Amino acid sequence: MSTDPAANLPFFYGSISRYDAEQYLKLAGMADGLFLLRQCLRSLGGYVLSVVCDLEFHHYSIEKQLNDTYCIAGGKPHCGPAELCEFYSKDPDGLVCALKKPCLRSSDTAIKSCVFDSLKENMLKEYVKQTWGLEGDTMKQAIISQAPQLEKLIATTAHEKMLWYHGKIPRQESERLLYSGTQTDGKFLIRDREEPGTFALSVMYGKSVYHYQILQGKSGKYSMPEGTKFDTLWQLVEYLKIKPDGLVTSLGDACVSRAAGKIPSLPATRRTGPNSYTPPPHAANVTSKAASDVPADNVLPMDCTGFNPYHDPSDIKKFNIRRDQLLVDEVELGSGNFGCVKKGVLKADNGQMDVAIKVLKNDNENLVKAEMMREAEIMHQLSNPFIVRMLGLCNAESLMLVMEMASAGPLNKFLSSRKDTVTVEIIVNLMHQVSMGMKYLEEKNFVHRDLAARNVLLVNEKFAKISDFGLSKALGADDNYYKSRSAGPWPLKWYAPESINYRKFSSKSDVWSYGVTMWEAFSYGGKPYKKMKQVEVNSFIKSGQRLACPAKCPERMYAVMQECWTYKHEDRPDFKKVEESMRSYHYSISNKVNPEGSATAAEPNK
Ligand code: AMP
Repeated sequence: MSTDPAANLPFFYGSISRYDAEQYLKLAGMADGLFLLRQCLRSLGGYVLSVVCDLEFHHYSIEKQLNDTYCIAGGKPHCGPAELCEFYSKDPDGLVCALKKPCLRSSDTAIKSCVFDSLKENMLKEYVKQTWGLEGDTMKQAIISQAPQLEKLIATTAHEKMLWYHGKIPRQESERLLYSGTQTDGKFLIRDREEPGTFALSVMYGKSVYHYQILQGKSGKYSMPEGTKFDTLWQLVEYLKIKPDGLVTSLGDACVSRAAGKIPSLPATRRTGPNSYTPPPHAANVTSKAASDVPADNVLPMDCTGFNPYHDPSDIKKFNIRRDQLLVDEVELGSGNFGCVKKGVLKADNGQMDVAIKVLKNDNENLVKAEMMREAEIMHQLSNPFIVRMLGLCNAESLMLVMEMASAGPLNKFLSSRKDTVTVEIIVNLMHQVSMGMKYLEEKNFVHRDLAARNVLLVNEKFAKISDFGLSKALGADDNYYKSRSAGPWPLKWYAPESINYRKFSSKSDVWSYGVTMWEAFSYGGKPYKKMKQVEVNSFIKSGQRLACPAKCPERMYAVMQECWTYKHEDRPDFKKVEESMRSYHYSISNKVNPEGSATAAEPNK
């Protein structure tokens, strides 16, 4: 699973040194404008562009900016490495020459991973398992959705996994270790210094041991005195293996720690103990504090107070809930076709949890009751972190459908009331989660038929769940679509042409609605085709026109919307494709490193 936005570029070589880059360029003929891209060894998420001109090599650092763009110092910002290279292929704009010919990787040259890449996947798994107690599919979903944020957290503690890291040992002990065994030049280890959060490098040269303090600047970056600055300790070490950077020698073999391979510490804010699984709310006390009250800055979905949204609800999921297990609050969360949705508490043997209860209105009972039972039947078959879970039905004074609570409410309302504080990055993350939930529905052969921002509920600003399965259908194993016998009171402005014209519904028509939902999200809860009547919308679409790009919407996100609005359903992407596009953009903009480094969740234990 590569989260590198350059991974698909045929001229990207990964974590190779400057020397190796020059060798590849030499082999490829040294033509003017010959270029390749490689990972920056200093900064997380950065690159280096290596270009040939007049038989000389030029290397340009590409930094990832705070606003999620990439740029060469003094140059224009671009939304990704691919876009940046394309730009410089048309206009040198300060480079020695324009990029003319990509130096392509040969079929037997793989992208070189860095030390962290090879550890990353296992570290992510260990982290998610330890911190949130997730396993199996739920763990996979959590990792896919949160990979960029988790990678940032993990990168800062990755050195604890390295063979050369000895933790807190005294200086004398480091000398004893280095003198024992072979005394080769460059043999080294890293240890914690007395002062918490600071490190020392001890290195052997000419049968003597030299000690260096590793500096950590205000920005949180590591360096040797006067040396190059690095985002993480392991990047500094990798660099010092290539260049001495002021040391008596460049680094050679690691003096191996006996504790090597141990599980690295988890960033302090998240770890609560060796088996740090925070029990799901039904096993613990449930706080009545809304999850949305938790400051969202460095919070991952799984960090919500008293709520583990990835929990496995199987121990509480009972289709029939007894009335005495349920406290129904007077507080109304909203209302829908069947009646109102109330706040409540579900009591189980091992605890209690906040729930949302859809209470059937009593008039017209038989008709709506059957509809609500159908909705319950659909929800009962679904289990995905990005879909509101049904916990059961309670048949008492009214029929009540009990669901997990998404207390921050519908996406459109949430965004329209927070236009100034919610960033585009947050919206991309939420819409990526919706695409993951929809991809799951597509795989299970369910069509939603009412996907809209009003039906995406938020647990908090980092965590979205699809809701309202009132119109949903399970398709037969051999069916690609559901055809409704008659039209109903449908949300036509969200509907694909084939649904409006032929009453045909499929995952592809859900993709169209997903495009409209994206539009609503990026326009911060705007109303699609606001001033148009439905007939006008129909001819607008038929004539090839589409909703305009919302003011703050990134180009790549508008491109996804436009693909979702492909007129013919057979040419429209499916959710597998949509999720891929969303994921790649989400990863490309979330990988940024906080230049202030120190005061974030990415802070190592101190
Ligand atoms: P619905 O009938 O499903 O459209 O729900 C009507 C309204 O009730 C929604 O717009 C939400 O404001 C609220 N609501 C529904 N389900 C939940 C839930 N699981 N958690 C929190 N609020 C909900």
